[in-house]
Amino acid sequence: MNQIVGFTTTIPVEVVFAGGYVPCDLNNIFIVDENPLRFIERAERDGFPKSMCNWVKGIYGVVMEKNISRVITVMEGDCSNTQALAEILRYKGIQTIPFSYPYDRDREVLKREIEKLIDHLSVDKAKLSPVEERIEKVRTNLALIDRMTWDEKVVTGHENHLWLVRSSDMLGDYERYEDMSKDFIDSIKERNRIQGVSIGYIGVPPIVTDLYDFIESVGANVVYNETQRQFALPYFEKDIVERYLMYTYPYGIFSRLIDINEEIERRSIQGIIHYVQAFCFRAIEDVILRETLKVPVITIEGDLPKKLDTRTKLRIEAFVEMLREKGNGEN
Ligand code: SF4
Repeated sequence: MNQIVGFTTTIPVEVVFAGGYVPCDLNNIFIVDENPLRFIERAERDGFPKSMCNWVKGIYGVVMEKNISRVITVMEGDCSNTQALAEILRYKGIQTIPFSYPYDRDREVLKREIEKLIDHLSVDKAKLSPVEERIEKVRTNLALIDRMTWDEKVVTGHENHLWLVRSSDMLGDYERYEDMSKDFIDSIKERNRIQGVSIGYIGVPPIVTDLYDFIESVGANVVYNETQRQFALPYFEKDIVERYLMYTYPYGIFSRLIDINEEIERRSIQGIIHYVQAFCFRAIEDVILRETLKVPVITIEGDLPKKLDTRTKLRIEAFVEMLREKGNGEN
């Protein structure tokens, strides 16, 4: 258990692996649990307010319930709640290691942050390069899975989501994740092309549990998962600092917009689902996204790790129908 290093969002995971630790994305542990509500309930029992993002409560609950003793907290570039979360974790006796992505994308500042992380975890720098080389193979497989989603169209939006979102910790074992991804690629080559309206999904990963299945059930498929793809770092820069500078998610809406617009074009996306989490400050970004994206946008909100509510289902169905009627329905 001591080898586990939890974290609150994507961090340079190469460093954690090179230190001989097992990285653990607390978001993923929370959401794949058979009963994720128990983590939220734990947080609320400990005094977290009802009117607060449930991802934050889920992360806290996972740390407490799973006895995770060390957590990298991303103080800048992710969530406005992380400072308070880090403080309560420290108060509860958890070792917290701060990491920040500089908002202005300053190379020197990011380099210093990565070096601080290396020092915190006492990583032998000589071990970093071999790990990076091996992880690049995993990232290459993930990029291929992503391509097979929008180009060959043999990967579903849900599968794409899972492969990319899990890349933040590679399930704690990057060699196994490489083997798993290779097996998956081999297993889907003979599949038939998926038909339907091509949807892009932007925003933080969904807390609701059946979004992708529902989208498929109304004749559409997600061919782009913005944030999840960013977690997979589809940037094959040799230098670790460069790689995490290319990563758009921590550097604000304008760096994200460039990426989103490029992918809308490249993937022939017909409409965008913008997911916002209840009580998340990022919901404000919806204003800019709606005014700048070149295709229709629907904004949906999730709160708890439960199935979609009927109203949201109806709205998605009507949105897909509208896109289909716009004339480009199948491709
Ligand atoms: S959804 Fe928003 S408020 Fe919740 S953890 Fe993510 S960034 Fe923070």
